[in-house]
Amino acid sequence: MEEKTVLQLKSLLPDIRENVFLKDHATFKIGGPATYFIEVRSKEDLIKAVTAAKTCGVPFFILGGGSNLLVSHEGFSGLIIKVLHEKGIVLKPGNIVEASAGVEMKELVSFCIDQALAGIEWSGGLPGTFGGAIRGNAGAFGGEIKDSILEVEALDDDLKVRQFSNKDCQFTYRSSIFKLNNWIVISAKLQLTPGDKKVIADIAQSRIDYRKEKQPLHLPNAGSVFKNCDLKWFSKEWQEKLAHVVKQDPFPVVPTAYLLSECNLKGTRIGGAEISTKHPNFIVNVENAKTQDVLDLIEVAKKAVKEKYGVTLEQEVHYLQ
Ligand SMILES: Cc1cc2nc3c(=O)[nH]c(=O)nc-3n(C[C@H](O)[C@H](O)[C@H](O)COP(=O)(O)OP(=O)(O)OC[C@H]3O[C@@H](n4cnc5c(N)ncnc54)[C@H](O)[C@@H]3O)c2cc1C
Repeated sequence: MEEKTVLQLKSLLPDIRENVFLKDHATFKIGGPATYFIEVRSKEDLIKAVTAAKTCGVPFFILGGGSNLLVSHEGFSGLIIKVLHEKGIVLKPGNIVEASAGVEMKELVSFCIDQALAGIEWSGGLPGTFGGAIRGNAGAFGGEIKDSILEVEALDDDLKVRQFSNKDCQFTYRSSIFKLNNWIVISAKLQLTPGDKKVIADIAQSRIDYRKEKQPLHLPNAGSVFKNCDLKWFSKEWQEKLAHVVKQDPFPVVPTAYLLSECNLKGTRIGGAEISTKHPNFIVNVENAKTQDVLDLIEVAKKAVKEKYGVTLEQEVHYLQ
């Protein structure tokens, strides 16, 4: 980066830090340093940071909870903008809850339980921020964030703040208009329904318990590495053979964990990374894993599934380089 650019960026954003290791901001605990790093706590500061990066021509990346990220060992040459929340969560008339992008999902779920509002309890135990969940239309146990979104406020390429109705968001399986265009979620409103506080709390807790039982939460990871596979991708013959494992989540899918298990990949290790024995769609950082260890395991998994089932796995984890 030219010295002139650096000086300009530092004058526009006096709070930026240099050489911040991204492994400390990613649940995988993998990843080299970002040249520049800033934490933003308000809509104004978020817009200011993005504007500064664009003005200076510096590449930037929006970081939420870092729970869906594999960061390159070389790190990121540019500005990382970490979105934290300031304004938090607000209850509005009509069972509407508004929250900033940087609010953690677990905080949002707790708030909804306190208010006896139902709708997002399926996300009990979902790591990351509200903004990250909206961008990737996070989902589990048959629910998706799109089911409760009323409106999203986001920043487009021209730094224009825009409002998006649920339909405008173009939510699909693990995707949205924000993901397709790299637009930045600032805040959003959820339309919820009144319910029984204990019932809502019990559902959220059962999801947390399920995750503890089935997922390798004792080791650093980034959640499911691959999306589940659409049943339609398989040949007629495989569709019949796999019928017993198909689940609706949110349409008929074959769990990728099952396919990886059938390919005997559980416990496959490269360097410090391993395909989890507990949940094979998770790669775990067993011992100082390098980014390349994970990338190599991803290739091993893709190749095995392609050879056995004829389908190409789609990656869910975002690779930041
Ligand atoms: C143990 C574990 C279990 C998980 N289980 C699930 C699950 O059941 N279902 C599921 O869907 N996911 C799951 N995940 C993945 C992850 O939690 C979700 O994808 C989550 O929504 C990512 O949010 P984040 O804030 O951590 O995003 P990050 O990891 O920080 O970022 C992910 C992507 O979102 C972008 N982003 C972040 N914030 C914003 C914003 N405000 N505006 C625009 N883009 C933004 C980033 O630029 C990046 O491209 C799991 C992860 C872990 C570690």
